[in-house]
Amino acid sequence: MLIYNTLTRRKEQFTPINPPHAGLYVCGPTVYGDPHLGHARPAITFDVLFRYLKYSGYKVRYVRNITDVGHLVNDADEGEDKIAKKAKIEQLEPMEVVQYYLIRYHKAMDALNVLPPSIEPHASWHIMEQIDFVQKILDAGFAYESNGSVYFDVEKYNNKTRAYGKLSGRNIDELLETTRELDGQSEKRRSADFALWKKASPEHIMHWKAPWSVGFPGWHLECSAMSTKYLGEQFDIHGGGMDLIFPHHECEIAQSCAALGKESVTYWMHNNMITVNGQKMGKSLGNFITLEEFFTGNHPLLTQSYSPMTIRFFILQAHYRSTVDFSNEALQASEKGLARLMEGYARLQKLSPSAVSSVEVKDLQDKCGEAMNDDLNTPIVISHLFDAVKAVNLVHDGKETISAEDLNEVKRVFRLFMEDILGLAGEENAGSSNEAYKQAVDLLLNIRLQAKQNKDWATSDRIRNELSALGFEIKDTKDGFEWKI
Ligand code: ZN
Repeated sequence: MLIYNTLTRRKEQFTPINPPHAGLYVCGPTVYGDPHLGHARPAITFDVLFRYLKYSGYKVRYVRNITDVGHLVNDADEGEDKIAKKAKIEQLEPMEVVQYYLIRYHKAMDALNVLPPSIEPHASWHIMEQIDFVQKILDAGFAYESNGSVYFDVEKYNNKTRAYGKLSGRNIDELLETTRELDGQSEKRRSADFALWKKASPEHIMHWKAPWSVGFPGWHLECSAMSTKYLGEQFDIHGGGMDLIFPHHECEIAQSCAALGKESVTYWMHNNMITVNGQKMGKSLGNFITLEEFFTGNHPLLTQSYSPMTIRFFILQAHYRSTVDFSNEALQASEKGLARLMEGYARLQKLSPSAVSSVEVKDLQDKCGEAMNDDLNTPIVISHLFDAVKAVNLVHDGKETISAEDLNEVKRVFRLFMEDILGLAGEENAGSSNEAYKQAVDLLLNIRLQAKQNKDWATSDRIRNELSALGFEIKDTKDGFEWKI
């Protein structure tokens, strides 16, 4: 199996350190807001990798962390902690914020049929491990203490290893050159240096006791500490979104090399970004759509709701290293495509075999496997499944024939790739059942409208009350009604 390694910038044969075991670490969410497309893409990409590695016979330990401390607004070393800020605004304990959004994140991932990872460690549960990691870097001479905080010494590390910037391709001499000027207020020697431990200011609510101060760990540290704890000092694959390459992953490499004296990760994999109608997604741009808004259609930019399976299918129709642009037109096309695939799959179950096959379907498994082995090329897998649907339809229409043996084989391979590997079966016939459900609610409300016109208040009230009890919000309008759940 070939995978593209961001570190070497080429496709490489996947060869785990300790087969049949494969270690996979993926940066998970910072849980201070509702899950959105930016969470869905890496979760789905690495879910497919997790599924495919397991199918390929590896015993996979998949670690996806939860960032619940240390991620500061603007990702820089200054400013407020994202979770603490939200806790202040909502007048909650920081861990209440974490719990609330974590439950919502898990719910959305379940809906998208993303399998839970093997371990989901929280940064705040691993403060001891992070303190030990900082101490190791200090002992190795690649960090310095300043006013109770500890910073990584990028220049010293780079002079010794020439390795800072190797993942992101940034020119570090230039970076060090241009970031040398700092005002006298800063605790850092150079602005390229990054925090390993920050002394907490009195108003900072999340803090722990460490040898240097009462404070909290720098954001990059948790992934180095937790990947080492659960996957060992060297492991196979580290994944995440492309936006994490710099500084997050570059800093992770520096920390691990400094503390452990060696490179931790063999393959770095990064999924590309998501845009909405051609624009970067951002709260200030008004195009920030949460997954729940996609599932319910409650957002001004959406003309309808989209089922979780439509979102999953849409993401898998692009290669993970390409950008994906969300628009209503593109999603509607995916919804139709998925319905066609599901219909073909349902039709396949009902085909009757003939004595011989006139369709060529024997190589479906090889073709799909080849595409997956070529750096998880899911759009090509999907196109092979569509080719199989064409053959199924021809047999269904009596224009071609299929033998019992071939029919069983196509059923097996279709199920394997569509359900087990692409994970597209969590919600079979999602599109049409969603439609049927909407029509059923409309039907009930039309009966109620009729009852009202007939002054049959008992029936009208009963429908309204019982739907309300089920969580439906019904609004009477001059044209009839509107509803949402
Ligand atoms: Zn990380």
